[in-house]
Amino acid sequence: MSDISKLQTPNSKLNIAERDKKVIWHPYTQMKNALPHIPIVRGEGVYVFDENGKRYIDAVSSWWVNIHGHSHPYIAKKVAEQLNVLEHVIFAGFTHEPAVLLAERLLPILPGKQDKVFYTDNGSTAVEVALKMCLQYWDNKGTPKTKILAFKNAYHGDTFGAMSVSGRSIFTDAFNSLLFDVEFIDLPDEGNISHLTSQISNLKDTACFIFEPLILGSGGMLMYEAKYLDKLVAACKKAGILIIADEVMTGFGRTGTYFACEKLDHKPDIICLSKGLTGGTMPLGITTCTDEIFEAFLSDDKLKTLYHGHSFTANPIACVASLASLDILLQEETLANIKRVEAKHTLFLQEIKAHPKVKAVRQTGTIIAIEWETGNETSYLSNLRNLLYAYFLDKGIILRPLGNIIYILPPYVISNEDLNYIYAAIKSALEEV
Ligand SMILES: *Cc1c(COP(=O)(O)O)cnc(C)c1O
Repeated sequence: MSDISKLQTPNSKLNIAERDKKVIWHPYTQMKNALPHIPIVRGEGVYVFDENGKRYIDAVSSWWVNIHGHSHPYIAKKVAEQLNVLEHVIFAGFTHEPAVLLAERLLPILPGKQDKVFYTDNGSTAVEVALKMCLQYWDNKGTPKTKILAFKNAYHGDTFGAMSVSGRSIFTDAFNSLLFDVEFIDLPDEGNISHLTSQISNLKDTACFIFEPLILGSGGMLMYEAKYLDKLVAACKKAGILIIADEVMTGFGRTGTYFACEKLDHKPDIICLSKGLTGGTMPLGITTCTDEIFEAFLSDDKLKTLYHGHSFTANPIACVASLASLDILLQEETLANIKRVEAKHTLFLQEIKAHPKVKAVRQTGTIIAIEWETGNETSYLSNLRNLLYAYFLDKGIILRPLGNIIYILPPYVISNEDLNYIYAAIKSALEEV
């Protein structure tokens, strides 16, 4: 007995980074030559602090999830209250106020007419559910369709279905032979839009079109115009293809409006949400759909049921965090912050876009991307990436370039002062790195 309890005491001779190295396998990290992982002990507003008290500006919103700043006191209070009431309950056969209220408040502010909420616990599973809804919708209707349409450089998550509808890349390389067939198309622009719409009108057996509206995140912050997306969506609707908007990254104000699809005239049938949903506090995923889709699953035939669910479906703590985050999001001050960040970003890009090391600049709402001139192809594996990452960390800024593409995707509460500090660091990097 005493031996076992001894094993439960951490080795006090090692610091956290050393202990981490012995027992942890980190995401998206080649562990062979990984730098020591920086132990973070506290977060406040746009800052996180390491164990030595060094402060970092979280300019990537902790992988795009944080929208109102870290350890937000209002969200923390609501979560703490809920913890004392109900931490979790099975969501089949049972329900609870936070899940119902969140659905009631969310559905009316989504673009188009969304009628039902299906809960999961992350973005990839929100996408899996959306795909299953579409495929089974057609099956339940007695007209099976099995093909899916998606963008070439898309990213929809890391589970197998989500990987299948994502562009083939180094992320999927080891699994390509096992991923299902998808029809991939280029991002639309003035030059190819009529070709793409006619291609869509000729598609057969296509169940759905899944896309990241306005901006392909992991693909390199690739941006495209709403008016062309709208034409693709219209063409799909005409061809009887269901529309899935993956707003996992773009939702909750990122692109300047609450949801990116607000900029479309033709609305999605299904919307996937996660990341900013809980304000970055808890994992939660949501797939919403229209009654048209929902009703195709209503039947006396048990085989028409959507057999999908996760242990932590609709976790009450996560739902309460989302409700609190929504309260903050809907305040006028938050919208003003979004507009302020957007305007500051625009001015900064004007300033640097002619720099010889800047190959391209892009902006959608609160997100800007700067493509570094490398003389070579743009690539996630670019060596420049590691140099830039270390350069900004040293200056107390968390920026994780996607290869030679630097992007800023900050919590909306970031101050002008902190934005100016990041801009200045990027300008000096353009001279020094
Ligand atoms: C991050 C992301 C996902 C996957 O979400 P996870 O919570 O990381 O599984 C899906 N779609 C888009 C557009 C994303 O940016």
